[in-house]
Amino acid sequence: MRGKKRKGVDRSEFGAKEKKKVEAVDSRKAPGSLPSTWSKSKKKRMRMILAKQKKNDSGNPNATTEKQSEGAASSEKESTIEQPANTSKLQKSFKAQLSGSRFRILNEELYTTTSEESYHRFSKNPELFEQYHEGFRHQVESWPVNPVDVIVRWLSKKHGKSTCSVADFGCGDAQLAKDLLRINPNSTVHSFDLVAPNDLVTACDMANVPLKDKSVDVCVFCLSLMGTNLADFIREAHRVLKDDGKVMVAEVRSRIEYSHSRSSSKGNEKDTSKKAGTLSEFLDVLDALGFKCGRKDLTNKMFLVLELEKTGKSPDSKLTFSAKPCIYKRR
Ligand code: SAH
Repeated sequence: MRGKKRKGVDRSEFGAKEKKKVEAVDSRKAPGSLPSTWSKSKKKRMRMILAKQKKNDSGNPNATTEKQSEGAASSEKESTIEQPANTSKLQKSFKAQLSGSRFRILNEELYTTTSEESYHRFSKNPELFEQYHEGFRHQVESWPVNPVDVIVRWLSKKHGKSTCSVADFGCGDAQLAKDLLRINPNSTVHSFDLVAPNDLVTACDMANVPLKDKSVDVCVFCLSLMGTNLADFIREAHRVLKDDGKVMVAEVRSRIEYSHSRSSSKGNEKDTSKKAGTLSEFLDVLDALGFKCGRKDLTNKMFLVLELEKTGKSPDSKLTFSAKPCIYKRR
């Protein structure tokens, strides 16, 4: 665990491949072609549907030609902004599929590259933020609970209407700040993300936030421990958190607890290889980074919520750690 990168995806190779995929989807170089991320059989299926549709639509002045449909599907602008009144079902389905593909690719990229790389890429292409969040919102709709709501409830219970300063690492569109400020106008929320979609958000890499040492009461990571340098985010939270402050982590359980056979084995607790892919391993990492777990909520099957407090030990400055990427399946 210590000073070691987790086995799994070869980042450099994977990164290059995925980058190509994103560019293929984003690019407008070949407006007539189907997304290169689609399999041959999927392209064939789509072409057959399109041909059938073209046949059915012949004679109809509003009919969409195959070229137009494909062009619309591969046009980034149209797919995110305009929805012509006569948009066919097929076009809508194309757009939804493209939006889903973009989300999955960006999501995978965010999980498998360093935060520095992601920050660089998102700063140069801020439209990627909206593309990512379009898909993310879609995912959230299907969850029984939104972890942001759980954290807002926890914060308002703990601090009531008293002043408290919160740093939201990887805040998205700052939902947490909006909700918390409504409940407790005496709170201050510093919201950070790779891109600032509104005035509440400061754009930065959360491995390096513009806050003074020991200046906040609570640091929040709500589904945002993306990037392969997860330990850097925790060290940054340790730096900006007051000595009696807390860190709230809400994360997808399968990113941390993915080794079920190992976690149930009753081996030597000190054998780190037996702990790999378990919550126990993650808690050891947090301990090495200067935090102990005060409370954990494992009642939800999908997400875990941890409340961390400082141990008084300085974080190990060399430790590296990444959780398992959360890869969404095709819809
Ligand atoms: N916390 C929000 C958003 C979760 S999506 C919510 O629960 O609704 C994860 C967010 O983390 C994304 O907006 C992504 O852009 C952000 N993120 C990932 N890595 C980041 C980094 N290094 N710095 C800042 N934000 C990051």
